[in-house]
Amino acid sequence: MLLSLFSGHLSNNKIIYKNYSMNKIEHIGIAVKNLETSIPLYEQLLNTVCYKQEGVESEGVSTAFFAVGESKIELLEATNPDSPIAKFIAKKGEGMHHIAFDVTDIKAEMKRLQALGFELLNDTPKPGADNKWVCFLHPKTTNGVLIELCEDRGGI
Ligand code: ZN
Repeated sequence: MLLSLFSGHLSNNKIIYKNYSMNKIEHIGIAVKNLETSIPLYEQLLNTVCYKQEGVESEGVSTAFFAVGESKIELLEATNPDSPIAKFIAKKGEGMHHIAFDVTDIKAEMKRLQALGFELLNDTPKPGADNKWVCFLHPKTTNGVLIELCEDRGGI
């Protein structure tokens, strides 16, 4: 499988990129200490209203979303001290946490990136905020940037 992916890639880039694509920056995730104060701040900054607040209990986070053109800003607040967001803030302070790319077929994209040597933080897509299937890439294989892939779960 790996060989055929590579030969496809080498012989004709379009074979791979036509089927497994990063469509756009879906959102940028920003770690905050307090959503209650950060939401009005970002409403002022972006001159728009927060259109959705949602908890993702499995990740220990509360999220708030803002639309910016075709992309979004996702604010993340930790809901418990073991949350990855709590650890991030303890280590680096508030700030940019991850970049999320919209993909058409998350499983195909995960397979493509794994074959290229990128380390995935989850083996199968997991349910994320805002009706998405998500997968994260380890920052150590992406020059220190936490990358999220997300595919719309459809329905709803
Ligand atoms: Zn995200």
